[in-house]
Amino acid sequence: MASALDTLNERIREVADLRHAADLLEWDERVYMPAGGATTHGEMQATLRRLAHEKFTGADVGDLLGRARDELGSADPDGRDARLLAVTARDYRKATQVPAAYVAEHAQVVSAAQHAWGDARQASDFAAFRPHLEKVIALKRQYVTFFPGGAHPYDALLDDYEPGMTTADVKAVFDVVRPRQIALLKVIAGRPQVDDALLRQPFPESGLLQFSVDVASAFGFDWTRGRQDKSTHPFATAIGCDDVRITTRFMDRYPFSLLFGTLHETGHALYEQGVARTHHRTQLEGGASLGVHESQSRLWENLVGRSRPFWEHFYPVLQARVPEQLRGVTVDRFYQAINKVEPSLIRVEADEATYNMHVMMRVELEIALVEGRLDVADLPAAWNRLMEEYLGVRPADDATGVLQDIHWSAGLLGYFATYTLGNLISAQLWERFAAAHPTCDADIRRGDFSALLSWLRTEVHQHGRMFEPQELVRRATGAPVDPAPYLRYLEQKFGEIYSL
Ligand code: ZN
Repeated sequence: MASALDTLNERIREVADLRHAADLLEWDERVYMPAGGATTHGEMQATLRRLAHEKFTGADVGDLLGRARDELGSADPDGRDARLLAVTARDYRKATQVPAAYVAEHAQVVSAAQHAWGDARQASDFAAFRPHLEKVIALKRQYVTFFPGGAHPYDALLDDYEPGMTTADVKAVFDVVRPRQIALLKVIAGRPQVDDALLRQPFPESGLLQFSVDVASAFGFDWTRGRQDKSTHPFATAIGCDDVRITTRFMDRYPFSLLFGTLHETGHALYEQGVARTHHRTQLEGGASLGVHESQSRLWENLVGRSRPFWEHFYPVLQARVPEQLRGVTVDRFYQAINKVEPSLIRVEADEATYNMHVMMRVELEIALVEGRLDVADLPAAWNRLMEEYLGVRPADDATGVLQDIHWSAGLLGYFATYTLGNLISAQLWERFAAAHPTCDADIRRGDFSALLSWLRTEVHQHGRMFEPQELVRRATGAPVDPAPYLRYLEQKFGEIYSL
């Protein structure tokens, strides 16, 4: 007779197949689908996701989990089967603890809210979005009640993106980051500004695209198990570890967003391509959390892709791809231009030194909304006050202020923190890697990323979802998420660029 674990694994493989099919449809919707296909696609997706959910949350799955645990007995709790069962049980518990009626209501509310948000942003009119956001917040506060026992109501929201991470963890880390980054920005503001006009010339899309492919290939992106296409918003998606797709876009206003967007998505893709094949079609496939995923994209995009050693190797390659625009521009000038620090209103356009400030203020506002300390009606004023306090800029309207991100309208509360956690983890991993590999800068100067990729494969990628983020980071670096390496990195890098 098949063991309970075997039967469970067989069931989960079917669930994974349904999810992969839905993910592939979602990719098609964002890359190739003609506008007319929207309804059919929506129906197919809803059916596939519902089937996957039903298969995963059946009572017999709970029964199989219990029996499989008995079979396993006192096996090593960090062993693969024990972790597989623990993670599957955690996912099962989370998926079954939320009533179906709530899921349906949430889907309806956020669908309407996203439409309202689009219109409100267009008209720069927060008042039009306010009743929708009030409904979203009320639903989030209800969601929290399905997971009693948390020390803080926000814990349950955070846990969906960063398993095991608590509000107290995040606050403790942010309390260290906030004053140091504000202080850094103040001294930078007193220095002569870097000139980045050269980046805003018209650049040929094809040259930049070819260059971004050169770099993704050098990083180790496996084109036999991945591809790149164009879409309105860049993203990465994995149909398992053997079919990992990234997208990019070209914007006349920011030609280099094509390059850095590609490097970012390549970082996500390298992670997915590196997950152990034994995790394929199980609950262990994919990344440990959004924060850990973001640590990989940020590491390749920023710590590598905006570093001096990287450009010492790649600048001549770029000059060969786009010869006209960069004629006479030295690598030093180019390096400074791509690292210009300038407080601005829009998160997605923020540089490395200001990005966390955008994130931290959103997390503070979310926590206040969930705690009930802040009313939705007072959100725009609170937003503008924090922008002023953290970045010294004040939005002139709601469109470039409180309405700029889609997240809240889509019900994604607890999500923003993962961007900053990703930044912090990226530097923590890098510092550990560099300490063990004294030639790492020299390797990068030669365009050789193999030691870095292989270290990340061993320490992070191969594990997939085996370990919760804090545990994964502790195993790789010897400590849980720690803001110190990222702060050291920022202060050192921008201290040099701005001669502080
Ligand atoms: Zn990302």
